[in-house]
Amino acid sequence: MQTFAINTLGCKVNQYEAQQIIKFLTSCNLLYVQDFKIADLIIIHTCCVTHIASAKSRQLVRKAQKQNPNAKIFVSSCLVNSDPAEFKNLDEKLLFAGNLEGLFNLLKQQLTDAGVDCKSFDNNTLKESETIEKFHGQTRAFLKIQDGCDGFCSYCIVPQTRPNITFKPFDKVIDEAQHLVKAGHKEIVLTGIFLGAYGQKTVKRKNWPEEKNEMLTNLLEKIAQVPDLKRIRLSSLEPADVTDILLDVMKNNHNIMPHLHLSLQSGSEKILKKMNRQYTVKDFLKSIENINLKLDRPAITTDIIVGFPGETIQDFAQSLSVAKLAGFSKIHIFPFSKRSGTAAAKLQDHIDRQVIAERTLKLRELEKQLAGNFRKQFVGETAEVLIEDEVKKTGKCERYYEITIKSDKKTPKGEIVKCKINEDGITATI
Ligand code: SF4
Repeated sequence: MQTFAINTLGCKVNQYEAQQIIKFLTSCNLLYVQDFKIADLIIIHTCCVTHIASAKSRQLVRKAQKQNPNAKIFVSSCLVNSDPAEFKNLDEKLLFAGNLEGLFNLLKQQLTDAGVDCKSFDNNTLKESETIEKFHGQTRAFLKIQDGCDGFCSYCIVPQTRPNITFKPFDKVIDEAQHLVKAGHKEIVLTGIFLGAYGQKTVKRKNWPEEKNEMLTNLLEKIAQVPDLKRIRLSSLEPADVTDILLDVMKNNHNIMPHLHLSLQSGSEKILKKMNRQYTVKDFLKSIENINLKLDRPAITTDIIVGFPGETIQDFAQSLSVAKLAGFSKIHIFPFSKRSGTAAAKLQDHIDRQVIAERTLKLRELEKQLAGNFRKQFVGETAEVLIEDEVKKTGKCERYYEITIKSDKKTPKGEIVKCKINEDGITATI
């Protein structure tokens, strides 16, 4: 029996695609293994969203080559599309595929040449592979409902690596959610590159037939009815996606978690414009106000880029001040790094690395403080934790922060445990 290993970097969409690859290869009777050394085929599903992600992707390819020189190594996804030169000097024997379809065709060819029966791997299988039944290795399952972006935020390479905008039909999403629940997943995260564009052919709102897109809200309401689905989250939205109707659906369905991820990126109107984002700081803060009015102490998480070209000390101060006003429960901080192929890379006024490092540190300090303030509100209250690590007894609560259960009782992975939050805000007792 042939074996395969897969290593994935990057966003939830990439993680989801890795599950589709696992599904395809296991349907061809290959055995999924964790260890590169015993794999006949190795797939590195790459990411290029930052320089670090690109470097890690290349490192993984080198690691695979070193640990198993006899394996066939496939390099797939975003980094392959962004800049093939990233792989020069690595090895001529590597096999490259920029998207899932290309990878499937390459795999099929290799397997057929090796005498593996791949008959089931025809076009139907490819279609079939668009959905998954189980999310291996994770308690929380991602369900991809949208792919692609043509938004061209000036720092982002994604519109070049994933230019085709697609979405999964309603019925297929519901069917997939039912399968994931049957497989034991208690939580599903609806995932896409631009989730709010679900059902649209473009992510540019000005080109939508109607200003608002209610497709995502309708879908969310339907998914909330899937029997035994305990938790639903949305991966990332923009302020205009957070309509009153969406918030009503969240409020009225106890299995939709009181958590939203809204990427701020910068608190300066000037920088947001330079980034080519589709909202203003004013829109952002209005949206936060609405969310707080409708939901009970919701967790609002975000991404902020530090040191975008032209970011003055005042612009950065505005990011700090918006973060304080929004009271984020978590901030993913991205020190700006030049991504070749993007509009931002061509800008003149790049910020000194040292300055970026200092600002990053400042934002990290604020992040810590805000996260602590947020968690303090729930001390002494009951929370439900979805256990991800049964040895450490850790998992995420409804509002998406990690809690460690202090108890001798068993806390099986994948189960939801009711507990009382301790004084420190990050541990709890059963
Ligand atoms: S919306 Fe902007 S940041 Fe998001 S994928 Fe599209 S271009 Fe990139």
